[in-house]
Amino acid sequence: VHTLGIDLGGTYARAGVVDAEGRIVAAAKTALTQRTPEAVVAAIQGAAKDALSLAKETSAEVASCGIGVAGQLRPGGFVSVAPNLGWRDVPFGQLLAAALGRNVRVVNDLAAAAWGEFSSGAGRGVNDIFVVFVGSGVGSSIISGGRQLHGSTGVAGEFGHTKVVPGAAGRQCGCGERGCLEAYVGGHNLNRQMREAVERLGAGTRLFDLAAGDVSRLTSASLEEAALGGDPAAKEIYDTAALYLGVAVANMVTVLNPARLILGGGVINHCPALRQRVEDHVMAFTNANARAAVQVKTAALGDDSGLIGAALLARSAA
Ligand SMILES: [Zn+2]
Repeated sequence: VHTLGIDLGGTYARAGVVDAEGRIVAAAKTALTQRTPEAVVAAIQGAAKDALSLAKETSAEVASCGIGVAGQLRPGGFVSVAPNLGWRDVPFGQLLAAALGRNVRVVNDLAAAAWGEFSSGAGRGVNDIFVVFVGSGVGSSIISGGRQLHGSTGVAGEFGHTKVVPGAAGRQCGCGERGCLEAYVGGHNLNRQMREAVERLGAGTRLFDLAAGDVSRLTSASLEEAALGGDPAAKEIYDTAALYLGVAVANMVTVLNPARLILGGGVINHCPALRQRVEDHVMAFTNANARAAVQVKTAALGDDSGLIGAALLARSAA
């Protein structure tokens, strides 16, 4: 039996028919022109229809659907807050189930991606993994003894909002608090720190040259290039990010004793030297017993992990 997996981004919805082994049989993508729940449901319906017809499945053969949403969820398929979409308290599971005529399971996007990696990616074959994604934000998921941890109210794994500089000295984070790991390491915040450095220091720095008159061109890859090229301001941002992320991940590995630590996301993918630096810090700061057990891997499924994981998680909604 196949299931339907949906990856819902801020600008697109992608639907895929996925087999029991986590292979995508067929997939289709639609741009989101509007972000109201009704418009998003309609876009998903279109993408799902296209994926099903590409896979030549009749609707009866695909009994259930899983969807990963970037945001905080409540039981019953409610999306409490989804900043990308501007949603609050949307009964999304219900709306989507009615539109698709199938059981729908709504899960956090990171939880879906981690489950994809666990089932058919870099976590395959072991029962205990810690997955960290560093993209524009920083998130994680814990799978322990083959079970994904959700916590008492469903918000476990918010690794990006663990504190690395507690109190008033910490950088402001998008979550409203200060000193979070994400405020030092997330892609948005790396960009912001580079802009601040360029504005503060002006011409004569490598970052200034890379910006070429437009600071919005600076990316995490520019940061790595400037830092490795010896730009002192870039190096400070970069070293701080690597150290805070490395120590924070090392502490999680010490606590969780995973068989695999899986690193993924845009910042990790675009900054190979940063990834190596983080791995070195993890090896340096993880307690010896946990260190001996852990293998560090890069996420293997790329942009497919969320879709695959959501489809596999939907098996328990059928
Ligand atoms: Zn935060």
